[in-house]
Amino acid sequence: MQTHILGYPRIGSNRELKKACEQYWSGKITLDELLDVGKNIRQNNWKLQQEAGIDLIPCNDFSFYDQVLDMTLTLGAIPERYEEIALKKSETDLYFAMARGFQKEGLDITAMEMTKWFDTNYHFIVPEFHKNQEFKLFSRKIINEFLDAKQVGINAKPVIIGLLTYILLGKEKEEGFNKLELAQKILPVYIQILKELETHGAEYIQFDEPFLALDLDEKSKETYSLIYTEIRKQFPHLKIIVATYFEGLRDNLSLAVSLPVNVLHLDLVRSPEQLEEVLKVIPETLHLSLGVIDGRNIWKNDFEKSLRLIRQATDKIGSERILIAPSCSLLHSPSDLDLENNESVLSSEIKQWMAFAKQKVSETVTLKKLAAENPDYSTLLLLAENKKAIESRKTSPLIHNSEVKDRVDVTTEEDAKRNKPFSIRKISQQDILNLPLFPTTTIGSFPQTKEVRNWRAKFKKGELNAKQYDDLLKKETERTIRWQEEIGIDVLVHGEFERNDMVEYFGEQLSGFVFTQNGWVQSYGSRCVKPPVIFGDVYRPNPMTVYWSEYAQSLTKKWVKGMLTGPVTILQWSFVRDDQPRSLTCKQIALAIRDEVNDLEKAGIRIIQIDEPAIREGLPLRKSDWQHYLQWAVEAFRISASGVEDATQIHTHMCYSEFNDIIQNIADMDADVITIECSRSQMELLNAFADFKYPNEIGPGVYDIHSPRVPSKDEMVELLKKAQAVIPAQQLWVNPDCGLKTRHWDETEKALIAMVEASREASKLF
Ligand code: GLN
Ligand code: ZN
Repeated sequence: MQTHILGYPRIGSNRELKKACEQYWSGKITLDELLDVGKNIRQNNWKLQQEAGIDLIPCNDFSFYDQVLDMTLTLGAIPERYEEIALKKSETDLYFAMARGFQKEGLDITAMEMTKWFDTNYHFIVPEFHKNQEFKLFSRKIINEFLDAKQVGINAKPVIIGLLTYILLGKEKEEGFNKLELAQKILPVYIQILKELETHGAEYIQFDEPFLALDLDEKSKETYSLIYTEIRKQFPHLKIIVATYFEGLRDNLSLAVSLPVNVLHLDLVRSPEQLEEVLKVIPETLHLSLGVIDGRNIWKNDFEKSLRLIRQATDKIGSERILIAPSCSLLHSPSDLDLENNESVLSSEIKQWMAFAKQKVSETVTLKKLAAENPDYSTLLLLAENKKAIESRKTSPLIHNSEVKDRVDVTTEEDAKRNKPFSIRKISQQDILNLPLFPTTTIGSFPQTKEVRNWRAKFKKGELNAKQYDDLLKKETERTIRWQEEIGIDVLVHGEFERNDMVEYFGEQLSGFVFTQNGWVQSYGSRCVKPPVIFGDVYRPNPMTVYWSEYAQSLTKKWVKGMLTGPVTILQWSFVRDDQPRSLTCKQIALAIRDEVNDLEKAGIRIIQIDEPAIREGLPLRKSDWQHYLQWAVEAFRISASGVEDATQIHTHMCYSEFNDIIQNIADMDADVITIECSRSQMELLNAFADFKYPNEIGPGVYDIHSPRVPSKDEMVELLKKAQAVIPAQQLWVNPDCGLKTRHWDETEKALIAMVEASREASKLF
């Protein structure tokens, strides 16, 4: 039996890489200094795994920005627009230009597109493909990192994005060809890399092929067989690991076990049940890597549970053919729990239930020892300790709250339903709200200026007391209300100045959440996030937003819209419990948000927005799982929204997403008004609503808030005409694409003044 790690976090336990990259980009350190930071991080990671006793230690899991972009540079798949940079600049500068764009020295070249890595919050750089594209070994990163490891005495296991996964992640940039046709052209480069690695003494190679666990068409399946057969033919002696993760193999099972490779890695956290199926059909030569430790969450492994899976496998195929591993790369885990040493942030009671990347490495090794014939005394002690921690988590009053559980139990379908259908609510709402045609509003946040962020920082450090901080925020809120009144916006917002982040703000006030000091995870490039941790039953001890909404409403006769984050988005952007289904945790959050909605209504707020930008990204990877997810996700939203009177208007907001395939579910959310990001698609996203004859009201964003560019009144009128051509005018609202948090005031002022004018002009046309 062996242990291995699929990949280790590369930002460094104190985010050294983030800092170094940003310093390099702003010219504060040299290229050599940056490269040194990278080298140190790699060596530390290797050493840590070596000392822990890991058998197969990965290399090439490091990246200065993104592992998919690394592969793009390795294969020389450099889009034409970077040609000049490729000639003039170092490989690293070319690499960063592809990642971030290049706007210097008279050049203005856009970055490559970025999108989410499967269902994680990590973003990768999308490869660009052309019909007659040629590939050649360009960056020698893979080989160099292997040699680096060799120098410190480690025969590392290079981790390489599988050829099929690389292709399937990419985008065809012209019509008339299928990207799978490129496989035969890319293959020689893979072969060249493997040859060099083999010559230098590599024994194991890990190909990451998460697509093997997703829905695949016939052509992709065929190509999988072809490619791996060819690789095997050329390298009869290399030990090839194919790593699948984030899903079970399901209908690809027979394809996966038939690939002529040495080891197949399974994600047994996502899909423990696939082990039995695999064991039924596994060929005699194939070894199995059991991904039993959750690479995507922060919980301590339940050793007994993992040992049951390990035994199930060893009983059938013997321990010689087994490897033990985390479920996927530890890229998605924070670095080191030992750095959480502030009892008042993360209490030791909760901390004992957790494991970050470094701890997961130790767990992997311990599991191997425990699975051996006669584990020694100290290993058995570790098992006893683990049992105790798992037991304490099962029963801790910090986690389990019977009132919350009872409330969930008695929640019925009725609670997820407004009293009356929209057609009737609409009349009551119009009666009291009295809004014009094409009512104008914004999505919630107004610019978070340096001053605002400064006040928060000072308040946290104790340099401002609560009263001083509160007064400053009130002034900013009042100014924003006055300004919205002045330019004639119909439905005002308070501006969200009191919020750092739309999930953190609520997490800090809800019970069942904790925060870490250092639980950073890479999101993209040098961007890291520190997700809240939902550890226990969630409830709302006190109102969370009523104070600010009530204050803002007291300043004006116009309607102020209350502003909340929805249950699915809060769930989606946190580390969640693994001791109950996500749907149940979501329901608890939904009930907490419902209490807030009801309290806002009681305080006189008659328009309440519940943001759900993450509803689409929560979609399962396999299409056959979609309906189950959508059913509970929509229900959670409805629970949060349905405690109010007919006349109270519920809004929701979603950022750029496709609606075609989920439009029925969006309609089922039954929000009175939905605002969506739309301007970049020139209102095309509205077609899904039009074709569906979406009955409720819609605010298609009329300008892109991601850019400092100020849109003209005329272009917004044009967009409104376009919208009105497919959606009746009575159903339309006028608003920007998203919150204005990241914008400056001067752009915001100009843009919103033009937006209000556009709405007035458009309403004269109809
Ligand atoms: N209300 C939030 C804001 O305006 C919405 C943010 C979002 O959709 N991502 O900032
Ligand atoms: Zn948004």
